[in-house]
Amino acid sequence: MKNITIFGAGYVGIVSGVCFSEFGNHVTLVDVDVSRIEMLRSGRSPIYEYGLEPYLQRNIAAGRLGFSTDVRQGVLSSEMLFIAVGTPSTTEGFADVEAICELAAMIGRHMDGYRLVVDKSTVPVGTARRVAAIIREELGKRGAHYDFDIASNPEFLREGRAMEDFMKPQRVLVGAQTDRAKAALTEAYRPLVYKDVPFVFTDTNTAEMAKYASNAFLAVKVTFINEMAILCERMGANVQQVAEAMGIDTRIGSEYLKAGPGFGGSCFPKDIRALAGMGRAASIPMRLAEAAIEANEAQKRHMVEKIEARMGDLIGKRIAVLGLTFKPETDDMREAPALHIVGALYEKGAVVSAFDPHGMTNAKEMFSPAGVEIEYSSDPYEAVAGADAVVLLTEWEQFEKLDLKSVRHKMQGRNFFDFRNVFDRKQMEGLGFEYEGVGV
Ligand code: NAD
Repeated sequence: MKNITIFGAGYVGIVSGVCFSEFGNHVTLVDVDVSRIEMLRSGRSPIYEYGLEPYLQRNIAAGRLGFSTDVRQGVLSSEMLFIAVGTPSTTEGFADVEAICELAAMIGRHMDGYRLVVDKSTVPVGTARRVAAIIREELGKRGAHYDFDIASNPEFLREGRAMEDFMKPQRVLVGAQTDRAKAALTEAYRPLVYKDVPFVFTDTNTAEMAKYASNAFLAVKVTFINEMAILCERMGANVQQVAEAMGIDTRIGSEYLKAGPGFGGSCFPKDIRALAGMGRAASIPMRLAEAAIEANEAQKRHMVEKIEARMGDLIGKRIAVLGLTFKPETDDMREAPALHIVGALYEKGAVVSAFDPHGMTNAKEMFSPAGVEIEYSSDPYEAVAGADAVVLLTEWEQFEKLDLKSVRHKMQGRNFFDFRNVFDRKQMEGLGFEYEGVGV
């Protein structure tokens, strides 16, 4: 088992740190955010991720998981260094690798012997080589001649199911040039070898590309069914049944064929933009990716149009929004469709009350600076009280179990916009709702 340092205690860093320590490795999680590290030290997670905290506490107690804000110490304490910092979109849509390059420089400045540096962040093709060049340059500046390897080990976990995905992934992708690097990474993931998880070995450029290709493909798939949903609405077909009929075909597969209000989150939007940007920079247009980006924006606008088509002028109308995060079992609000939809409803004069089981703290941090004022409720029933309409944006299990009679009773109006197709139209109409799904 290995000593591992992970830089970046975000969604990926924390889950990777907890799981690598659960595998038996000794892990130090390093972040520049002091409050994050303090919270982690006390056994609490700064992010909500289903099932995470018990494992966090268990591995701290076992002495396999520690935390630090000292990057230099992180470089010195392990031979295997994972980079899991954020790679947000730049204003032009490219991936911002500034934090990655900064860390590479720190590694080159402080390493005191062989290191295996592993990019876990999602990064543009060529970043591993760039990281190697920066480390080499820093070593050169101080006349040091330490050996090092660079590997790319993109992360495929899904927020909300991240623990399960890390403990039993569909594959582990390793881009590495040397046997030493491949062997060390295989060792860090040892329990997965026994679980027969496939390991795919490639060069670093290919691993980096495979991550973008995977996310962009899934984003295109979601966008395809979303566009089909709008066409189904117009043509009088049912997109859920279309998706069922399509998904049974193993060449297509049923995953990521659920129509909804548009894809969001911290990965699909920024990664498909980055892929499109890479294509533009290489003069190889990524036409499908570009089209999916545009169609996804249209999908979010279409949700607002659906609400207006039913309700007319929204000035002064009370709209209860159930669910704000981009998917259930996470508190992540980054690029959630709710940001566009709720923002538009507010701008059009609606009074929005909202409830989300775990997303409201992050939602407040995003809506308030944008000048979007929302009434945050302590439960779904409080949110719907006196509402002219309910808009369901995230399919939290809690909403699937709502007492719909009580919801109907508490509302002032009858409109129910179920933008995740959680409920059945007939049942909803039987309860007296004016029901509107997506493509059903
Ligand atoms: P995040 O924003 O949640 O966390 C990034 C963390 O890095 C922050 O806590 C930040 O303080 C820290 N950081 C920044 N600079 C640092 C430095 N120099 N040293 C140490 N820490 C530093 O990001 P995330 O969602 O965990 O994503 C990380 C990477 O993994 C991204 O490239 C993302 O695309 C990729 N990824 C994310 C997911 C996901 O579901 N969130 C899944 C797969 C891959």
